Amino acid sequence: MCCNIVLLVGFEKCGMIYKAHLAVAVSIVCQVLSYSFEDSFRWKPAEHRRKRKIIDFKDKDKRLWSMPVPYAFSTNFTAESDRKIVRAAISEWELETCVKFREVEDQEEYERTTVVLVKPQDSSLCGVGAGRIYIFTGNRQVLFLGHRCLTVQTVAHEFGHVLGLYHEHARPDRDRYIDIIWSNLTNFESTKKQFSKKPEGSITTLGFPYDVASLMHYGPHIYGKTWDSVTIRAKDPLLQLSIGATTDTTIQFYDAKTVNYFYCNDTCRNSVMNLQCQHGGYPDPKSCHRCRCPQGFSGDLCEWHERYTGADPCGGVIPAESFNQSIYSPNYINEFEHFSYKKGQTCNWLIKAPHDKLIAVRFTGTRFGFPCTTYPYVTCDDYVEVRYGDDIGVTGARFCCQERPNVTIISSSNEVLVLLRSTRKEHAGCGKRFGFRLNYWMVNPVNRNGTKSRSSRLLAVNTLYLFFTYVWVVEWL
Ligand SMILES: [Zn+2]
Repeated sequence: MCCNIVLLVGFEKCGMIYKAHLAVAVSIVCQVLSYSFEDSFRWKPAEHRRKRKIIDFKDKDKRLWSMPVPYAFSTNFTAESDRKIVRAAISEWELETCVKFREVEDQEEYERTTVVLVKPQDSSLCGVGAGRIYIFTGNRQVLFLGHRCLTVQTVAHEFGHVLGLYHEHARPDRDRYIDIIWSNLTNFESTKKQFSKKPEGSITTLGFPYDVASLMHYGPHIYGKTWDSVTIRAKDPLLQLSIGATTDTTIQFYDAKTVNYFYCNDTCRNSVMNLQCQHGGYPDPKSCHRCRCPQGFSGDLCEWHERYTGADPCGGVIPAESFNQSIYSPNYINEFEHFSYKKGQTCNWLIKAPHDKLIAVRFTGTRFGFPCTTYPYVTCDDYVEVRYGDDIGVTGARFCCQERPNVTIISSSNEVLVLLRSTRKEHAGCGKRFGFRLNYWMVNPVNRNGTKSRSSRLLAVNTLYLFFTYVWVVEWL
């Protein structure tokens, strides 16, 4: 019922720790509070999902919230700066989904269940039950937010639980995507339960893909024996830096899509618009004449590609050919330090090949650089991300720091999305904003068995890239 805090003291500056410049990095572990009737909270079983009905668990009407979701600050949650953080996190959910919240006065008893924000004495305690819990005295559903949990990202995570989301890494199918490194857990007997899976049938994934960068996913070093112990390892090693949304404070595309599905899937059902959303988009319950789109896409049907935001033009839709072509981050071609891309820049490139082809990409060029923090483990402040899976709405591989990745990636579809993201934070990590150069070319979708199995292609890419990069490139060409 409690949460642990990983507290780091020290300030890393390009390989050295400056203790004089004290900074605090806080990594939160929150736990979904358990209640005796948790087992009665069942999402629609998998076999019924195909019928496209909305949730079908027996007490769904009780466990889903009716809008707006009331919340109140308890009498010990007085600091306006803390309240602002909570309101900012709530605004993110309201922006990305159809759910609405309403702030109400704190009182001993409510007519209907109300989320009551409480600041516990234990500053590292944060947690709440998943979904609406309807048995509390006075209809007060307490959300504990210890002082160290008060970041927009962590509070948004907690409100994800409030809305009914469990941890992404608790999905029954998580072992296909991540490994838990049990031997690296601190206090194994007490911490192992934090990594337990939900039984098959007790929750539904809606068939949505696993996203290691979900707002609801733990970070890769959580509950580690040491600061840098890896406790969650991605099966696809290229995804390791993407685990746990360590950079983004935003709700990921499929986090929002799940909440929208459960709370307002019917909203657009009777719309005269029969939208054929592209690129994994779906009818926007807040505006049924258009689709909600994954990163990099816009337009009523997600048919438009969003090129860039920021100081310099970049990005675009580009065809892959059988010969090598290159894309660059803004100003890269000059290859001088002071001509690097600008803070706050975003770029989106969509590389497309014919439907029966795949795409290979490889970082090249003499310079590569995105500010990152390297102590006690690497986290990206800026990064270039390559989305090469079947679904480019899912977070892909993120690369940062100053060493050019020595890897060739083969896509599993005929599209690859390349994203450049630069933080607007005042104090990004170490390293220059050199950016990147990336080569891309078209390849044939044949594997060693001569079949066109997408899963086997992906497996090959995900497991063998380190050792067989060149072999595979030659073979796939
Ligand atoms: Zn949590």
